[in-house]
Amino acid sequence: MANRKAPVGIIHSFNFGIIPREGILIMNYSADEAVAALNKIKAYDWAGAVAFKKKDFDKGQWLGGAVELMDKNRNVKGTAYYIYIPEKFNFSDFHQIKLAHEAEHVVNFVSKEAFDRVKEYEFSAYLLSHITAQCLNLMRGMGPNKGVSYCLDK
Ligand SMILES: [Zn+2]
Repeated sequence: MANRKAPVGIIHSFNFGIIPREGILIMNYSADEAVAALNKIKAYDWAGAVAFKKKDFDKGQWLGGAVELMDKNRNVKGTAYYIYIPEKFNFSDFHQIKLAHEAEHVVNFVSKEAFDRVKEYEFSAYLLSHITAQCLNLMRGMGPNKGVSYCLDK
């Protein structure tokens, strides 16, 4: 159930704990709205990163990824990790699994960039979603494949 205090839209940073990187969660904003909001708080590098991903964001899909952060002279100054949720998060199992899926993409991207060890593969993100769905079903007293499942574009 959604918390009554749950915000309608979010543009907020998140951190990686022990890894000195920063990400941004954008929920229920269009790319244009997010760019305007980020410019308003003078987060120009982040606004530029979102503007760079506008074509992807405008497809209306959930995304977890990484894009280069550039200064105003277009010098790369880091990496912007993002989770983009184009609709209001409703705390359903399906939305929670989708969140985990996109978070896994971010984990893979930061692992690749921070450790140069793990490649980014769609496979591992879907596997994470699949395992998460089965665990949720089991914890609700159902068989692992009864109840919520997660497949591409469903
Ligand atoms: Zn994916």
